Formats: sequence, C-alpha cells, structure tokens
Amino acid sequence: MALIVHKYGGTSMGSTERIRNVARRVAKWHRAGHQLVVVPSAMSGETNRLLGLAKELAPAQTDDACERELDMLAATGEQVSSALLAMALQAEGLSAVSYAGWQVPIKTNSAYTKARIESIDDQRLRADLAAGKVVIVTGFQGVDGNGHITTLGRGGSDTSAVAVAAALKASECLIYTDVDGVYTTDPRVVAQARRLERVSFEEMLEMASMGSKVLQIRSVEFAGKYRVPLRVLSSFTPWDIDLNTEASSGTLITFEENETMEQAVVSGIAFNRDEAKISVLGVPDRPGIAYQILGAVAQAHIEVDVIIQNISKEGKTDFSFTVHRNDFQKTLHLLKTQVLPALGAADVVGDARICKVSIVGIGMRSHVGVASRMFKCLSEEGINIQMISTSEIKTSVVIDEKYMELAVRSLHREFDLDQTVDTISG
Ligand code: ADP
Ligand code: ASP
Ligand code: MG
Repeated sequence: MALIVHKYGGTSMGSTERIRNVARRVAKWHRAGHQLVVVPSAMSGETNRLLGLAKELAPAQTDDACERELDMLAATGEQVSSALLAMALQAEGLSAVSYAGWQVPIKTNSAYTKARIESIDDQRLRADLAAGKVVIVTGFQGVDGNGHITTLGRGGSDTSAVAVAAALKASECLIYTDVDGVYTTDPRVVAQARRLERVSFEEMLEMASMGSKVLQIRSVEFAGKYRVPLRVLSSFTPWDIDLNTEASSGTLITFEENETMEQAVVSGIAFNRDEAKISVLGVPDRPGIAYQILGAVAQAHIEVDVIIQNISKEGKTDFSFTVHRNDFQKTLHLLKTQVLPALGAADVVGDARICKVSIVGIGMRSHVGVASRMFKCLSEEGINIQMISTSEIKTSVVIDEKYMELAVRSLHREFDLDQTVDTISG
C-alpha cells in the first residue's frame, strides 16, 4: 500500500461527466489498496471567467487591496471542483472529504496572486487517510499568516499537489492532464513534437521556467527540493485501464541522468508569450544603477527575467529587462513615478509584443556551438534577436511575438526533435 497524490487539471475536471471519470479512476487506485490525496484544479475556463468578472469591475486597479479580493474570488473555482469531486467519490461508494487550503492549512506568504507555500500541516490529512478516506485538497490556494486567502499563481495547482506530496512524504505525485506526458515542445504548436519517456529534473525545471506550462515552475522546484517522484500523464485514457499500465505511462521526471540523455544536444523547446520588455533609456552609468532600478521592482514583488545593460555612450546607458505581462503596467508606473526622477534617466519605454523562445538540454554541457546553431537557424528565417540569456543547459532569446511559432518549429527541426526515434528516452 502506498500513499499517492493525484492532481487533475482544469480540462480533466471540465464537466460533471469528466469529474465522474476522475472519481472512477481515483476509486480504482483506492480499491487497489492505496491511500489517495487528490488535488483538483478549477473546472476549465472557470479561473479565467472569474478573473474576467473582476476586470469588468476593476479594470485598472493593481493595488494590494484589489489583489486580496482577486484571490478571494479566484480561489472559489477550486472549492467548487473539490466539493463536486468529493460528492462523485461518495457516489462511487467511497468515503471522501474535501478541504479548502485554509482548512488544512496550507500556509503561504502574503504575496497575493503569486503566493509561496511556507508550510503544510499534515495532521488532518493523515487522520482522514488513516480512517480510510480519500482526501481532496483544493489546488491553487492557501492562507497567509493573517488568515487571508491567497492563490499561488496561474497553474498553481501543480505546486499544491507536489507540496502536499512532499508534506506527506508520498510515494509519488501523479499529474493528470490533457496531454499524455511532457513533449519536446508544446504538441499544440508543433504537431511533430515527441513525448519523452523520461526527462531529467534539471531539464524540466528549465522547460517550466522558460514557459512550458505543462508544469508550474514551483511544482518542479518543490519536487527537486523534497525529492518527490513526479509523473505527468493523461486523464483521458479510459478510467478502467490496467492500473500498472497507467502507473508507468506518461513522462517520469527523473533525478538520474544517464549517457543516453546527454547524447541529445537539445531535449526540448519552451516558449513564453507572457512577458513584456521594459527599457530605461539614458541612465547615468554609475555604480548602483541596476540596484536602484531592480531593487524597487523587487520590493514591489515583481519578478524580473532577462536583463541586459548596453555599453555606455557619453556616460549614459540603456537598461532593459523583462517582466510578466501582468506586471507590465505596474512596473512602468513604478519606474515612471518613483525610479526615473531619482535616477535622472531620460525615459522608460515598454513593449508587450515580445516572446521568449528557449532551447533546453543537459547535452548542452558537453556540446559546443549549440547557441550559435540556434542563432544561425533564426537568422535564416529572418528573425531578429532582441535579447539573449543563457545558463549551463539552456539558451533563450527574446524576439517579436509574431515570429514565435516559426521560431519554435524551425528550431525543433534544426535540433532533430522532429524525428520519430526517441533519442533521449531512458
Ligand atoms: P492542466 O489544466 O491539466 O494543468 P495545462 O493547460 O496547465 O493543463 O498544461 C497542459 C498543457 O501544456 C498541454 O495541453 C500543452 O498544450 C501545454 N504544453 C506546453 N508545453 C508542453 C510540453 N513540452 N509538453 C506537453 N505539454 C505542453
Ligand atoms: N485554476 C488555476 C488556473 O487556472 C490553477 C490551476 O489550474 O492550476 O491557473
Ligand atoms: Mg496547469
């Protein structure tokens, strides 16, 4: 008997019929003798619908008071799906109970709309499991030190599931979704994308952080920190398929790297349309400017991604960085009202029509010339590179968003990912 956490995404929970299928699948695992904790997302489209309502009433507000209410609102989606799943499980003859984040509690910091989990109390969950119940814990939400409801950022139910699995020291965390695993790139953009049998934890971390929304980045971070065995698999297989077949399907995120994995130069391509570029122009080039600009941005809980500073001309330089598009207006406003006057810079300009395309692979450690092959491929397509950033196992470029699909497809072909032979599966 093992303790296993299942996570079901929005599409998997998208209708009462699908919730019934989830209940049947969970019941199959329970009847096989396992203890189950299930973390559902809101029914598909629900979080967008809720946030859309908010936009109608408070389109320009970005202050903390509004963000608190956004979390109150958005968290309701997961409460609905969790309660419905508990009912569906009870209808299957199982004993099931659902909890909202604050009831567990899942404690987070107070960064509304992108809170981080700080601790999870496992007592209540363990008592229910010991009593033979299937326990359902809402994804995406928690509670801060003052009792305010928080949410974990879009896609945050993945993180809830892995964090619950870590707190319970579960044997495995299974992320059920609408694709049957992690692919070389988003199969909805490149039809020739291949499913990976295994992907190294480090590659998954880069893919997720570079925009592959199949797993939220923080869920992968948690899995790494607490060594949670993680698998991505389909919730669209028939619920009554053989349990062992199901348990070994999809993609395993593995902590073991082997030679075969390193042979592939590039294992995957990620892209991200959610960023915007901000440039502070004519900044006096003196020590401390990066801190003056980015310190203020960090204090406002805004995450910064790619950063470049140009060489200075006549004592002045340009400083550019990217932020999440949701933070674009807030960052522009902050820089214009607070940073620019103190800094004595000429202007702040922004461009939200950019995207970031990244090639990822542990093979990049041992192969040279990978980045230049990427740049050559993009230049042959006439795509201009605006920013570049690299790490040991990835190279990212910021380009005009209208070239995103062309760039991803060309790079997928360039790095032989279109092949039918699965070169990095273990
Ligand atoms: P869920 O609602 O189950 O959390 P998401 O929509 O958040 O599902 O994530 C699954 C989606 O991630 C897929 O439908 C697919 O379009 C997208 N995706 C992006 N990159 C990849 C990738 N490398 N492999 C598989 N899916 C990917
Ligand atoms: N419902 C939330 C969202 O749409 C969380 C999730 O699905 O993981 O972002
Ligand atoms: Mg998701």
